Amino acid sequence: MNEFRTRLAETRPDEASASGAGGLDFASDGQGGDLPEAALVTGGAGFIGSHLAGRLAIDGDVRVLDDLSTGDRDAVPEAATLIQGDVTDYQSVVRAAEGVDVIFHLAAVVSVEESVSDPVETNLTNVDGTVNVLEAAREVGARVVFASSAAVYGPPETLPVTVDEPQTPRSPYGASKAAADAYVRAYEASYDVPTVALRYFNVYGRGQRGPYSGVIDAFLSRALDGEPLVVHGDGEQTRDFVHVSDVVRANLAAATTDDTGTAYNVGTGRSVTVNELASIVAAAADVDAEVRHDSPRPGDIRHSRAETGQAADRLGFRAQVDLEAGLADLVDARRGSAELSADSRG
Ligand code: NAD
Repeated sequence: MNEFRTRLAETRPDEASASGAGGLDFASDGQGGDLPEAALVTGGAGFIGSHLAGRLAIDGDVRVLDDLSTGDRDAVPEAATLIQGDVTDYQSVVRAAEGVDVIFHLAAVVSVEESVSDPVETNLTNVDGTVNVLEAAREVGARVVFASSAAVYGPPETLPVTVDEPQTPRSPYGASKAAADAYVRAYEASYDVPTVALRYFNVYGRGQRGPYSGVIDAFLSRALDGEPLVVHGDGEQTRDFVHVSDVVRANLAAATTDDTGTAYNVGTGRSVTVNELASIVAAAADVDAEVRHDSPRPGDIRHSRAETGQAADRLGFRAQVDLEAGLADLVDARRGSAELSADSRG
């Protein structure tokens, strides 16, 4: 283990995220090779990107390129340099990438609803923006680690979903991620740019916010406010929820692996039904939450669970945080910030 990695592994959980997101231990293990000395994180003011930038900034040079469209300036770790810019502007991307070893590309239109209402803008950001990042990487000689999504698969034919599952995305968001994921792999084949596409399943953790932040955030907010949890459809749909600290670990592994030019699933390999999730959230929040069923969401995928063997064997990545522990941490964070804002109101 080199000096840089040793210091990262020794970092205490409360120091581990320079973004202030705090929470569960981000220390990585089981990943060989050196971490990048200089990295660019696009979308580093967002939920996942700010955790990743916080982890990398502990002992490396980190730049964040973000247009702050959904991201938050305050989420960017102090030790990182924020460059406010748009990934659809090639010159901004290449300037930000000058001298970096790895570009972690997370900037995207992430809302399925938004992609349905504006597929053209979604394509511009998610596909053209990714090609800009790949071109910049080619110019400066950097590796690209891309935030792909389980949405590329659409409704899977078999479970668990392997990376070779046929791709039938159902939304412009899923289609844009599938196209970008294909470009990422094609750039290695065509130009020898080392690339890895990480297909995240349902990510949760501290710092996730906003109207499209997902079912865990929605359930927890309502449980803590004493409101009923709203389940769309019968609640028997299943999801594989992966903690953001595990997603950070997968990114670090992808930054160093020799097994590039391919895609990996980033999930836990365990799925729960949305009904079970409602019970687990209520138990974590220590409340008796009423569950109400609403109409199913059109196009909602019935079942989702990652096949994780390939990421374990080739990337050395295995999710470490179980759902109960991840939720307990989220409850702590919510209660802590509620106390803080009550204190600040005097
Ligand atoms: P997020 O919205 O919190 O972060 C996205 C960031 O990208 C924001 O800070 C936003 O300001 C920035 N951005 C958007 N358009 C930009 C542009 N044109 N130029 C520069 N910056 C831009 O979302 P997140 O949940 O952190 O997602 C990060 C990545 O992970 C995305 O690529 C998303 O598709 C992928 N992903 C997320 C999940 C999940 O469950 N959250 C699942 C699968 C894949």
